[in-house]
This record gives sequence, C-alpha cells and structure tokens, in this order.
Amino acid sequence: MTELPICTLVSWKDIDRWADTLAQEVLSGSGAPETIVGLTRGGWVPSRLLADRLEVKHLAALRAQHWGVTATPNGNAEITEGLTTSVKGRKVLVVDDITDTGESLDLAMEHVRTKEPLTLESATLLHISHSTYVPTYYAEDVPKERWAWFVFPWNYWEDIRTLVAKARPDGKTPSGVRQLLRDRCRIEVPEEDVLRAFGPA
Ligand code: ADP
Repeated sequence: MTELPICTLVSWKDIDRWADTLAQEVLSGSGAPETIVGLTRGGWVPSRLLADRLEVKHLAALRAQHWGVTATPNGNAEITEGLTTSVKGRKVLVVDDITDTGESLDLAMEHVRTKEPLTLESATLLHISHSTYVPTYYAEDVPKERWAWFVFPWNYWEDIRTLVAKARPDGKTPSGVRQLLRDRCRIEVPEEDVLRAFGPA
C-alpha cells in the first residue's frame, strides 16, 4: 500500500486569520521590522501578507532547499539561493509557512546572521511542536500528535497532483482515488479537482 499522509486542507480564510495573529504577535513583541525575508517557496505568500500588515516595504527572498540523501552527503537542507539584498544594520524578520523539522528556517537564520543585521527574528504561521527550531513568533502551535501535511492554498495543485499520483495505483479510477483520499488522507477533494489532477485519459 502506498504511503498517504493525513492531510489538512488550509483555506485562504485560515491564512488571513493566522497572518493577522502573527502580525499582532510581532507588533506586541519587538515591533515591525525594517526588512522581511521570505523563504521560498512556502514563505513567499506569508511574508507578503505580513509585509502588508506591518507596512514593511523592504521584502527579500531566500531559498533553502532539501536536496534529499542523494544530493548531499547528510541529506540536510541547504541554502541554494542566498540573499541578494543587504540587510546589514537592519531590523530583520525571516518568515516561513511552517516549522516541521525546522531545519530550513534554522539554516536560513544562520545564513542571514552572517549578513550582520541589527536584530534578527523569525515568524511562521504554524509551528509543529517536535520542530528542533522554535520561531520567535508563530500564529498557531500544532502538537506533534496532530501532525498533518498542511495543504496550503498556494500549493494546492502541486499537493493534490502528488497525492493523486500516489493513490492511483491502489485507487485506480478517479472515484477510487477520491475515496482513498477521504479514507487515508482524511480530506474531501472535489470530484472535478481529482479529475483535473488525473490529467487527460
Ligand atoms: P524540512 O526542512 O525538513 O523540509 P521544514 O520544517 O524546515 O522541514 O519545512 C520546510 C518546508 O517544507 C516548509 O516551509 C513547508 O513549505 C514544507 N513543509 C514541511 N512540513 C510540512 C507540513 N507538515 N505541511 C505542509 N508543508 C510542510
């Protein structure tokens, strides 16, 4: 049987609420930063939403990637596209969607620290309690017992295509796949979305 994770479908409404909470946390903490660094790709939308709420005009991107055991000797995440803008002497906030192992954000923080910011903090929408890295701010704490693969709205089609491809050998037909997603991933995916992810017959 193929491995299908328990999933949670995240709505834009959830994102909006978490972004509001996070902005509030930052404001009651050390206040709005001068620069926000969004980790690609998961941190792009959250960082833009925070920049809007905190009235931050300076937004930069940083890419931390997990290359897997075949690409690096230890299978750890690494920075594949560094900061292209100077953050020296600035008050910086690094933003991502979720800390799960926390490795990507930990690495990103180390990288930004070498660029000599005045202050450096981190923020995520979700924080899973088993993460080795704890962000300075997060909107929601997820106990590790409630771990799920969170299907963020900006990653919807990528995740649905992946899940459908995994469920296809056992599920066979679109309705069989849809049932597997219901039983194993515990998500209700509209029929037309499963059909779209199946691709042309
Ligand atoms: P890793 O470095 O092991 O991939 P991280 O906790 O550093 O784990 O997360 C890296 C990125 O992977 C996150 O920013 C997010 O986009 C994605 N991700 C990791 N865990 C989850 C999850 N449980 N649900 C949804 N996305 C996840």
